[in-house]
Amino acid sequence: MTVAKPVCPGLCTACGQCAQRCPAGAVALALRGPEIDHLCVACGTCIENCPEEALAWPAEGSEG
Ligand code: SF4
Ligand code: SF4
Repeated sequence: MTVAKPVCPGLCTACGQCAQRCPAGAVALALRGPEIDHLCVACGTCIENCPEEALAWPAEGSEG
């Protein structure tokens, strides 16, 4: 099953909130921002808690 995954449009300050709050442990912080892996359950917690509003769902049709 493919789940929607948040994407980072470049506003990320690497604060680490998304990685700390992800209930699935799906977020790893890299130098350029969060990397979200297949463990994501599309709960939206990272999007809701990002102080920079750097996370959003991918645009429809951009999957893959
Ligand atoms: S919460 Fe937002 S600003 Fe902080 S590391 Fe995650 S994507 Fe970047
Ligand atoms: S949507 Fe939920 S499970 Fe997916 S990366 Fe964000 S916090 Fe983690």
